[in-house]
Amino acid sequence: MDKLRVGYIGLGAMGKPMALNILKAGFPLTVFNRTVEKAEELLTAGAEWADSPADLARRSDVVFTNVSNTADVLSVVLGQSGVREGVRPGMIFVDNSTISPTGSREIYESLRALGVSALDAPVSGGEIGAQNGSLTIMVGGDAESLELVRPILNAVGKKITHIGGAGAGQIAKAANQIMVAAQMVAEAELMIFAQKAGADPVKVIEAIKGGAAQCWTLDVKPQRLFAGNRTPGFKASLQAKDLAIVMETARQNLMSLPGTAVSAQLFNALCAMGEGDLDNSAVIRVIELLNNEALQTA
Ligand code: NAP
Repeated sequence: MDKLRVGYIGLGAMGKPMALNILKAGFPLTVFNRTVEKAEELLTAGAEWADSPADLARRSDVVFTNVSNTADVLSVVLGQSGVREGVRPGMIFVDNSTISPTGSREIYESLRALGVSALDAPVSGGEIGAQNGSLTIMVGGDAESLELVRPILNAVGKKITHIGGAGAGQIAKAANQIMVAAQMVAEAELMIFAQKAGADPVKVIEAIKGGAAQCWTLDVKPQRLFAGNRTPGFKASLQAKDLAIVMETARQNLMSLPGTAVSAQLFNALCAMGEGDLDNSAVIRVIELLNNEALQTA
């Protein structure tokens, strides 16, 4: 059987390495990105260029998107010259972006009317996971469609879980972001706390990494901050966007999440300071200001 023809839209920090891994796995690949230059590496590696999301859909069996937020995915899929204009019955649409569960359900219904099955398949694992093909993928939508695209997802992820119907993958990702944001804030507080109280934060992190505080954030982020590197990675503005999704979903379901509300406010503050394009670990800047203490870097 011929390999499925894959189309990939959105070649940012995540989409570009993910699309490259799909190409390396041997799937014929067509790409589209709003900023054309970001496609160069993929085109050199053998991908084809499409002039619009609709054009890309016409030339693909499975279409992926990986753009910033809910409004961006809706415009790329349902807007003018969007994916919806180029689809045909039997195709599968997969969204790797992190957006609201309601946005994913809207896309699912809209494409289902044209005989297209939509999966929300947000990912976790950061730029490093995207480069290594080791992402965690949380999937909402029809289980049979997931099985059809699983060979493609295997090229980008190590753990792929069908969570439930349309939007369930986004609920899982939002839940994940509750923990990630809390870790970024806790890491920032513990570093500034240790330093200002008189202990070397480098030694503190090394000491506690393997104990009860062990987590992905402590494994990956401190060395960047100690080196003075606050470039993304995962942009703080995207972290703020994800926390807004959590709080909005909580409101819709009459829930109170006080801890996450604090995280959301701290990330909003970082964005308000004009630093939303920094890495999400740069939330330490807000904690530095609150405590009049700058983290010492090597
Ligand atoms: P990024 O580097 O900022 O890239 C965003 C991509 O979306 C770019 O290709 C951008 O095109 C495109 N885009 C944005 N708005 C668009 C629009 N209206 N129309 C067409 N294209 C549009 O972001 P990223 O870090 O790759 O994140 C992408 C998604 O993955 C987000 O939903 C994010 O929350 C999620 N995510 C990110 C990480 C991470 O560690 N970075 C981890 C897990 C999940 P241009 O090139 O033209 O700007």
